[in-house]
Amino acid sequence: STQGATTADAFERRLTPSPRTEAERAALVAEPTFGVVFTDHMARMTWTVTDGWGARRLEPYGPLQLDPASAVLHYGQEIFEGLKAYRHADGSVWTFRPWANAARFAASARRLALPELSVEDFLGSIEALVDVDAAWVPGAEETSLYLRPFMFASEAFLGVRPARTVEYLLIASPVGPYFSGGVQPVSIWVAEDYHRAGPGGTGAAKCGGNYAASLLPQQEAYQRGCEQVCFLDAATGTLLEELGGMNVMVVRRDGSVVTPALSGTILEGVTRDSVLTLLREGGHEVVERDLPLGEVLEGLRTGEVTEVFACGTAAVVTPIGRLAGEGFDLQVNGGKTGTVTTAVRHQLTAIQYGRAADPHGWMHRL
Ligand code: PMP
Repeated sequence: STQGATTADAFERRLTPSPRTEAERAALVAEPTFGVVFTDHMARMTWTVTDGWGARRLEPYGPLQLDPASAVLHYGQEIFEGLKAYRHADGSVWTFRPWANAARFAASARRLALPELSVEDFLGSIEALVDVDAAWVPGAEETSLYLRPFMFASEAFLGVRPARTVEYLLIASPVGPYFSGGVQPVSIWVAEDYHRAGPGGTGAAKCGGNYAASLLPQQEAYQRGCEQVCFLDAATGTLLEELGGMNVMVVRRDGSVVTPALSGTILEGVTRDSVLTLLREGGHEVVERDLPLGEVLEGLRTGEVTEVFACGTAAVVTPIGRLAGEGFDLQVNGGKTGTVTTAVRHQLTAIQYGRAADPHGWMHRL
């Protein structure tokens, strides 16, 4: 972790003359539905090929004016990030490993031929926005302010080439506990007909197109009675990759944990890396390698695989209770949440919410 100076103070404050009242805000924050309600402001920067990044400002949250020829609307040149601000018991507000999100945002930018945003600006925009909209960070258990940085090609030009003007925005949405009524194991449909990413593609980048491509297979998963879809690698169709928005891990009877290696076709999850660290420190053997679906199915049948879980910023650590696909439908751990899954989830959330020490320096105070 690096705790350098950021550009937060450089964000010009064009604040809204009509912020929502305390009562309105309290009502909106009390029952937050993911990604529906947004804070009063947004942070914004503009890039041009001639002048680079500039025009750092906070603006009232609201609709954008976009030329219909804006390149993003035609060719999808867009990237985004997702992280959260957590309120600790003493009232202070913190983010979790924002440097990792800044680095991934820059890597995504490179893949999509967008200009990189510096870590100072990435963090600066977060600090500036959470400063003006601090009252929007909820304080109840398992709640947080979801932060959504994104960047897109705004140049009005229909030629297929990297845009010469680009917008960066940061919006924020108060979110409640991902699972109302406690953590429940989810069911997974393993997609065979569709892949999320192929070798040399954009699987390791957080770009909108990846998610657009996942919607139809996700719909198919619903139709098969499953909540989430799991993708297999495009090259061989035999290896587990990840879910639509979460990485996947398999716990074995001996306590070792196996997760797909970062092959270039899956997203390098911040939660994935953090969970691997915590498991390793907890004495689990952690293996990053190819993970054949056949091995997992066989392991579920023999009892060699004891738990399967998914991990990501939104749902933290999610137990998988059922794995289904063409020709198979298997329970995991009797459909119940396993002990390793529960333990690592508690460990991680304790750090994020300030209930436990932060020996890795993962938390950044806003
Ligand atoms: N895979 C995909 C495809 C995702 O969209 C996400 C969410 N960003 C993840 C994995 C998990 O990443 P993180 O732990 O950084 O949220």
